[in-house]
Amino acid sequence: MPKDSAFLRKLPAVGFLLEHPAGRDLAEAFGRGEAVWALRGALDALRAAGGGDGAPEAVVRSARRLLAPPFKRVVNATGVLIHTHLGRSPLPDAGDLLEGYVDLEIDLATGGRGDRNRLSEGLLARLTGAEAALVVNNTAAAVTLALAAFARGGEVVVSRGELVEIGGSFRVPEILEQSGCVLREVGTTNRTRTADYAEAVNERTRGILRVHPSNFRVVGFTQAPAMEELAALARERGLPLWVDQGCGWIGPVGGFDFPEEEPVPRLLEAGADLVFFSGDKLLGGPQAGLAVGRAEAVARMRRHPLYRALRPGRETFALLQATLAAHLSGRWERLPLWRMALTPLEELRRRGRASARKLPGLALETVDHPCRFGGGTTPLYEFPSVALTWTPRSPSGAFGRLLGRDRPVLAIIHEDRLLFDLRTVLPREDGELVGAIREAAGNP
Ligand SMILES: *Cc1c(COP(=O)(O)O)cnc(C)c1O
Repeated sequence: MPKDSAFLRKLPAVGFLLEHPAGRDLAEAFGRGEAVWALRGALDALRAAGGGDGAPEAVVRSARRLLAPPFKRVVNATGVLIHTHLGRSPLPDAGDLLEGYVDLEIDLATGGRGDRNRLSEGLLARLTGAEAALVVNNTAAAVTLALAAFARGGEVVVSRGELVEIGGSFRVPEILEQSGCVLREVGTTNRTRTADYAEAVNERTRGILRVHPSNFRVVGFTQAPAMEELAALARERGLPLWVDQGCGWIGPVGGFDFPEEEPVPRLLEAGADLVFFSGDKLLGGPQAGLAVGRAEAVARMRRHPLYRALRPGRETFALLQATLAAHLSGRWERLPLWRMALTPLEELRRRGRASARKLPGLALETVDHPCRFGGGTTPLYEFPSVALTWTPRSPSGAFGRLLGRDRPVLAIIHEDRLLFDLRTVLPREDGELVGAIREAAGNP
């Protein structure tokens, strides 16, 4: 692009910008050194582009964007509990395990080298009834590692009804390819029988993989073999059976049960060699991929060189320990995800009415609203919640102002209204939410 020399000459100098009220605010918020660095960066970008908005306010705005932290705490008023765009499950409290040092790889009885997988050997195995378990960074990593360890160079049989894409570009056929396996598709999108699997098995087959369809359902004329049938076939042919269960459903929590979901312990009982699931979906913990199953199968995953590249750090183990302990003791209210899910409707109504009273000029109302777990889990399941509704002059304008704050609020736009589902708002965020609505309404 030809440089417009008049434009370049007119660009303000850094010294001038620092004296400008907007620039002074910037220096006050971030410190003078940081502000100078960012203003130079913003000016350099304009010079490189050879044009743009060179007004002092605009340059300072670009500079501010260079300094703003990449992540912010967001108030989730969507009623989607496991919100993929907001980090999935809210994290539990790991006590003081996130500070200082921990006995990650030391055996305190001897002072010798320990193993970070004690957690998987103990709590995870107890919770799922598995012989052994392994923790990696996410479910995609668990499936990739298992396939690489067991099936590289061979064929893996998968039903055509399970060749799914799960948000964030986890595509079953591509994972198989990346792990060096050949995908052997069987059956059809809606119906696959045990006989289809049996016909596909040959001397190159290394195993059978079942994949939970996660975020979608095929309904109507459908068929898939029961786990026991598939396990019987796998045993008869001397093949391992792996299940990518994904959602991390372990069994009933409080009043919640999902009869259509197969819990991890049941999949193992029915004969799966390995089951893979996420730490940050229905388990309500940190991002992690959990592999549970037969001791020798888990040991083989752990011996594979790829494991070293996929193992998580101690913060994952600390948060996972708190998560698993809450499930084992049935104290689900210790997990923010389940505390939200189990909050009584009356409690949400009371909080909604209290917030509405603080903004009498805006005529906020509390209404019944369906909420969901989200995160690709239980896609057809909704349960009752309560939302605050607000009818601003411009719903999209107010929506944008709520997102543009230092503590952004993600609301729902529904026709001419904004909805704030209170189930996913932490009780201690109620004041923040009221303040944000007040601000977005122009401080009535
Ligand atoms: C969510 C999910 C995954 C991906 O899990 P990550 O932990 O995000 O890698 C894989 N398979 C299934 C069936 C899932 O539900």
